[in-house]
Amino acid sequence: MKARTIRMVPLLLCLPVTALFATAGGWTGGPGDESNPVRKNGPKIYISADMEGLAAAVSAEQLGPSGFEYGAYREIMTREVLAAIEGAREMGAGEILVSDSHGNGQNIIPDMLPPDVQLVRSWPRPLMMMEGIDGTFDGAIFIGYHSGTTNPEGVRAHTMSSTNLTDIRIHGRSMNEAGINAAIAGHFGVPVIMVTGDDASIAETHALIGDFEEVVVKEAISYHAAKVITPAAAYELIKEAAGRAVSRINDFKPFMVDTPVTVEVQFKNYRPGQLLAYLPMFTRIDAHAVRYTARDMPEASRVLEFILSYQVGLTP
Ligand SMILES: [Zn+2]
Repeated sequence: MKARTIRMVPLLLCLPVTALFATAGGWTGGPGDESNPVRKNGPKIYISADMEGLAAAVSAEQLGPSGFEYGAYREIMTREVLAAIEGAREMGAGEILVSDSHGNGQNIIPDMLPPDVQLVRSWPRPLMMMEGIDGTFDGAIFIGYHSGTTNPEGVRAHTMSSTNLTDIRIHGRSMNEAGINAAIAGHFGVPVIMVTGDDASIAETHALIGDFEEVVVKEAISYHAAKVITPAAAYELIKEAAGRAVSRINDFKPFMVDTPVTVEVQFKNYRPGQLLAYLPMFTRIDAHAVRYTARDMPEASRVLEFILSYQVGLTP
């Protein structure tokens, strides 16, 4: 396993995790060596797909059912995922699980996926954008990701909820979705091997979690503007990058945070923090923010999903 420099703030701990990396460590080469029983099945890959960081996506018109271009972008999202699947498979990847991690969680068109791929759809889910990941996976790929809500740059920069949140911090450091999701994967010993998105999100994510293969599909100009490449160009780049990522999968290390995990959630509005602080597990740290401590990242994720999803009038 190649040593690498980890760009981290001291508050987050990134451990050398040779032991936790056992599943990926058990797979040692490229495709074609049928004598290796582990490699015959190939590395198991988790793909989490968002929409804001897709090629050419710039505004709400592409990102939800009320947008005039949403139908076309469901297909583009699916094709970017397909490109990653094809690239990974060409380099010997085995089992693949895809998570539809945007909006209603029902954007990816299931009919377009190969029959041997499984898909996680809709909400709520305890592991949010990483539902279904566990220690049997060898690498995680993030497609269509975007920068976090504290980043002054980036198309549709937000963290988990552009409507309701203005920050999520882990051990005091602002995290984007890629960072939170990398830490969930890291809990299971799974490294992030590839990320796609705009230039701001890729730079921000490298600063948070270190090395991964990347595809920059657009240069952010503002929150709702970018200089973009075409989807067709993105499919080619994503396929190549996924192949590179799988072929050097043993180079990547899981991103791990210290446990227990201290999480701070900052709301746009006043009342969510005030009410959550009625519960003994939450401390109100200012007018708009609460802090809680979770045993580990899966527990931190379940609490975040509760905060984002619970409403007293939920039906059914
Ligand atoms: Zn997102």
